[in-house]
Amino acid sequence: MNEKTYDIAVLKGDGIGLEVVDEAIKVLEALDAPKFNFSEHPCGAGHYLEHGDPLPKSTVEACRQADAVLLGAMGLPHVRWPDGTEMRPQVDLRFMLDLYAGVRPIYLYSEAHTPLKGLQAGDIDFVILRENVEGLFASMNGGIELRGEVAVDSMVITRSGTERIARYAFQLARKRQRQPMKVTCVDKANVFKSMAFFRAIFDEVAAEFADVERDYAYIDALAMYLVQRPQSYDVLVSENMFGDIISDLAAGLVGGLGMAPSGDIGEDAAVFQPSHGTAPDIAGKGLANPVAAILSAALMLRWLGESHSDPAAERGAERIEVAVRCIVQEPGVGTPDLGGVMNTGELGDTIVGVL
Ligand code: ATP
Repeated sequence: MNEKTYDIAVLKGDGIGLEVVDEAIKVLEALDAPKFNFSEHPCGAGHYLEHGDPLPKSTVEACRQADAVLLGAMGLPHVRWPDGTEMRPQVDLRFMLDLYAGVRPIYLYSEAHTPLKGLQAGDIDFVILRENVEGLFASMNGGIELRGEVAVDSMVITRSGTERIARYAFQLARKRQRQPMKVTCVDKANVFKSMAFFRAIFDEVAAEFADVERDYAYIDALAMYLVQRPQSYDVLVSENMFGDIISDLAAGLVGGLGMAPSGDIGEDAAVFQPSHGTAPDIAGKGLANPVAAILSAALMLRWLGESHSDPAAERGAERIEVAVRCIVQEPGVGTPDLGGVMNTGELGDTIVGVL
């Protein structure tokens, strides 16, 4: 058997990032195939305090060279740039590596995890596709403040940026093979020129995918529909800021941020990380749910499998998802956020045990 070995750059970061990445690595190492070389690289607000840089060039270079990147979480509320803004090296990395597709699968593993009534495991199963490198975040670190009385951040929508994220959305719907395959364009095209442009380009791309249903939702209405009928969505695509907000709302439908994995994917690089931040309130206490990080590792395997035509990697992804399902489908099993009494390491070990 021609077994592949992947070089994985590990960026643990700050807060619970350190704890949950360790569990993801534990789970990956428990697979018989593929194999991994993990190399850890410095980053985060803690590194800034000691060395003056939250994202050293050598770390960015290691991310470029690796087959994939596994990231924990970065940033600490009290560690700020001289202008008072919080440092967000994980967002900077998306721009540097042009990781334009923010892929956030939302899946309900147990009816006990959702605050909604009458839903069973598997009833919520959709993917949010967040455009990651333009939109309202294009202004990041570059907005204008005038005389202490006017501040402006701009929404930046480009044709090429919208085409590639829309195309990714339709291709993803085809891969998922849900019936009916559907892509929902989430925007505010009734008010903003930038959003009307986003929708117009979405429509142009949609014409290439006649087999996939196209759907539209204004961001405000979508916030309500996601709560009322989350079952009706398959793939949702949006600009950066809207995608950021609906990702957290959607995570709340399936058990919270500890259950929400993500992948930031570009043409030449990809970073996989839980959707949550560093959660300083629970850091160092063993309370962090490692499932989002473990499912992000599964997402990484699926991406490696597709990009290297490696069935072993795709099988590994599926095995991890099944193991997670076996454990957390029982009400009250898991870390405290899931209503359980396990600590971070115990939940990781239990998943490894099932593998
Ligand atoms: P960021 O802005 O960096 O995304 P945030 O301010 O939105 O971060 P998080 O760090 O994601 O906040 O945490 C929000 C809350 O969610 C935390 O207070 C924590 O209680 C909870 N939380 C986040 N991740 C987890 C996890 N893995 N396990 C359990 N609880 C979590």
